[in-house]
Amino acid sequence: LSQLFRPLDMLGWVYRTIRQGVIDMGSMFDLIDTHAEIVDSPGAQPLAVRKGHVRFENVEFGYDPDRQILKGIDLDIPAGSTVAVVGPSGAGKSTLARLIYRFYDVTGGRITIDGQDIRDVTQSSLRAAIGIVPQDTVLFNDTIGYNIAYGREGATPDEVASAARGAAIAGFIQSLPDGFDARVGERGLKLSGGEKQRVAIARTLVKNPPILILDEATSALDSRTEADIQATLEAIERGRTTIVIAHRLSTVVHADRIIVLEAGRVAEHGTHAALLRQNGIYAEMWARQAQEREAGDELAAE
Ligand code: ATP
Repeated sequence: LSQLFRPLDMLGWVYRTIRQGVIDMGSMFDLIDTHAEIVDSPGAQPLAVRKGHVRFENVEFGYDPDRQILKGIDLDIPAGSTVAVVGPSGAGKSTLARLIYRFYDVTGGRITIDGQDIRDVTQSSLRAAIGIVPQDTVLFNDTIGYNIAYGREGATPDEVASAARGAAIAGFIQSLPDGFDARVGERGLKLSGGEKQRVAIARTLVKNPPILILDEATSALDSRTEADIQATLEAIERGRTTIVIAHRLSTVVHADRIIVLEAGRVAEHGTHAALLRQNGIYAEMWARQAQEREAGDELAAE
């Protein structure tokens, strides 16, 4: 009988994931294979979020048993603070974020939110407490208003309008002939990368979660759009526990703490200034990216 119900469980998971609009379709299909086993533990209670204090205690994880990706991560993210995770490609930054949302369970150690092991709470309450602004936002073939309201069931038009202002996309929406009723997606308006990201930010503002995960887009936005979006993001981080997965170091200078992940371990941590003084991996990454920025500016000036 369980053979029969497993696909149904999986469909339920897919449905919830689509409803939460948190990941792109490609990764969703990757996840279908692996995620049927994440279920609520018997007697799981709703997460009681007091302040949003996130802790990783000696966290180990591998997608496959014979290849460990995270190797004993200890991380203390005080409520309301912003932690940026940086490091080379493949270091495990996105994996770390996926574990907080419980796309996968840790294979060793534990992750807690306000002292509660995330495996002991209901998935729906955990996911209601966490907002993700992903690299690539899924937009539905529906109106722009629907796409924003999707952040939380029962969001009112006023809340949607206020979120659009918070994400600095209200002016753009007003300029459309149909305003919030303008259709987007395949059968409607094509939005730019920056506009899509703002819809994702507005959607997250509607959700109003105490914990925020920002997965910085790797694809280049033009530098003005990037700076604008950065300012918007910094505004929505206030008062929330925020984990930023960052590729460009220029966007993490303001973080309360920066974690340098290398091959699944925390290699360095500290503020931007402290890490520069340490003259290690971070300082080297910073110097390299500064050179690239200068080269880019020269090219743009030619
Ligand atoms: P990037 O900066 O390139 O996004 P990252 O630091 O975020 O990299 P992760 O995406 O966390 O790195 O990947 C860490 C390692 O885990 C990589 O070696 C990757 O190949 C592997 N990995 C990621 N997702 C999966 C998966 N679904 N199944 C198996 N291995 C995976």
